[in-house]
Amino acid sequence: MAGEDDRWMRLAVELAWRCPPSETAYSVGAVIVGADGTEVSRGYSREDDPLVHAEESALGKLAGGDPRLAGGTIYSTLEPCSRRKSRPRTCTELIIASGLRRVVIAWREPPLFVADCQGAELLSRAGLTVDELPAFAAQAAAPNRHLGVLSETYRGGSPARPRCAAPSATRCHQVATLCEISHFGTIAA
Ligand SMILES: [Zn+2]
Repeated sequence: MAGEDDRWMRLAVELAWRCPPSETAYSVGAVIVGADGTEVSRGYSREDDPLVHAEESALGKLAGGDPRLAGGTIYSTLEPCSRRKSRPRTCTELIIASGLRRVVIAWREPPLFVADCQGAELLSRAGLTVDELPAFAAQAAAPNRHLGVLSETYRGGSPARPRCAAPSATRCHQVATLCEISHFGTIAA
């Protein structure tokens, strides 16, 4: 199962790199896999609409109530959104309504656009299984470097010598997740 998870998340990361870059939204990839272990759908941010999210795009390619969704899994490089301005329903709500039973994420949403993303928490509360693959966090974050989410570490010097560039303990605490991801990315590279 772990090997399968890695395989699908690798695909989701590849999809994330296809996103047209945006200064106001993340680049995310998502793959939906049925209970039988075969791919049902895939999507990425801004795939065919400047506002569409990856999970929304993947789900949107299927008819509502598609039987392959029941008991299936969605792999997303980023924690599904729990608040958004551009659409009436969040990806978290869409996933809960879809019949999918498991959500696998690589990267928790950093507090860049939304202070406290509760996607994982809400999905768990709705009875879905939420699994994180932290080994993929750096790869999931990498297509978002243009947002500056990783620049705290990278700006200061060579990525080969990781260090936290935050000037104060307070600031470092605020970007703690990003800081860890940056370090991880450098170590993994
Ligand atoms: Zn979303």
